[in-house]
Amino acid sequence: MNLIKIKIENCSISILSINEVKYVFQTIFTTIGVSWHFVSENSPEHTHIYYGNESEQSADLIIRKITSDVQIDISKVKILEQLNTKFLSFDGNEKIFEFDNNVPSTILNDIIYTTFFLLTGISEKGIGRDKWDRHNIEEVFLYKKDLLHTPIIEQYALLIKSIFKNQFTFLPKWPENKKIAIGLSHDTDYPEMIKPIEALRYIVQYKSLNLKKITQILTGKESFWKFDDWMSIEKSYKTTSAFYVCPYKGNLIRYFFTAPDTFYQINTKKFKKAAKDLHENGWEVGLHSSFFAYKSVDSFQWEKDKLEEVFNIPILGNRHHYWHLNQANPTETVAIHQEIGLMYDSSFGFEKHSGFRLSICSPLHLFDPENQQSFNILQIPPTLMDDHLFGHAKNARFNNYQEHIDHLVDIIYEYEGVFVADFHVRVLNETFFPNWGEAYKYLLQKLTEKNDFYSATPLEIAKHWKKREDQIKNNSIDEISYTDK
Ligand SMILES: [Zn+2]
Repeated sequence: MNLIKIKIENCSISILSINEVKYVFQTIFTTIGVSWHFVSENSPEHTHIYYGNESEQSADLIIRKITSDVQIDISKVKILEQLNTKFLSFDGNEKIFEFDNNVPSTILNDIIYTTFFLLTGISEKGIGRDKWDRHNIEEVFLYKKDLLHTPIIEQYALLIKSIFKNQFTFLPKWPENKKIAIGLSHDTDYPEMIKPIEALRYIVQYKSLNLKKITQILTGKESFWKFDDWMSIEKSYKTTSAFYVCPYKGNLIRYFFTAPDTFYQINTKKFKKAAKDLHENGWEVGLHSSFFAYKSVDSFQWEKDKLEEVFNIPILGNRHHYWHLNQANPTETVAIHQEIGLMYDSSFGFEKHSGFRLSICSPLHLFDPENQQSFNILQIPPTLMDDHLFGHAKNARFNNYQEHIDHLVDIIYEYEGVFVADFHVRVLNETFFPNWGEAYKYLLQKLTEKNDFYSATPLEIAKHWKKREDQIKNNSIDEISYTDK
């Protein structure tokens, strides 16, 4: 396998450390499937890519960097576009490329810093959050710039791939060279209806005293227990999914005054049987960590252990209830994921808008600032939650859920990403959630109609990605040592 050779300028006014730069290149190269060779700064040889500002360096592609004298002021960032790719200008410079025979020979815009900026949430500092700690979407940089549906890092990866398309072979992202991966999932929030509350909710929601309906709710004919129904829908589209379950039981008083945790108890025959059925049929059971699970390693570990103990299933995947990581410091939560032995998490999304909070639609690793290297735990970035199409639909620019779904599916196909959908277990109840189940079927129809997809549980997707990544990494060479600093 050919290696793509990169030389990185290391100088005292660099905005990123060498390890941060390497992390960005590794992320980009893993996305497109090519191994790397970081050559020493003193190496005289011609390289494929040079990242830096020295004028005498020669390379097939030069990427110029911004330096630490540039003030990173989010309010002044300009969004530029060329070659179907978005660029962020932090220094006001609007020129992006120099070409040689119509192929970019120099990228004057610092796409390496931009990638780091996007993957580390620098733009999220200071965003207001509501009482349940959900970001005020109108304050989100990517939302304001209409970039939540643009996986910018995939664009950079494709740009580099296109420049080197004749020199390297690239490992396909998905098994059997399928175009996209489908990773479906369900958060289990409220699978057992509290009948009097729902009867009341029905009366208020529909301003109706439909006695037949109310009786059905009170006698248990209406249900939120939909595990089998999801499985049978998914089976009919040749797909599968994960169900995230919370072992911590909250209550009404806690709900109103402390945290909106789930109320159910997993230690029941009914729940154990549901988990067993899912697991034995090839569906995944993962952890739906409670609202404040991130506050300590011990509480998080307790939740993972409890779920494993009660269901007797190994738990390797997680999604936070309310996608509630430590929003003030998400990497602190990622470090906990890693410490308690999770293989992946799928919580990096915005609760009030669909799309790509990390500007990427492939699995990835976040950067661990403390250890100056990437975390081992994988992120499988969520694409769409059910309520994005309904309760939060006003935040998006689509006329109906079909348009919203069409748009996201097209993007995942364009960038050959993974589509991670999150539909809550109860929303197949049509009385309380009219059209939600229809929207899911519409989504599956759209995702599968080209018959060019790899569908697997998020855990299987994580395992596939890890294997592919190891293959890329094991072939790679790193000659940049700390002494280069
Ligand atoms: Zn939840």
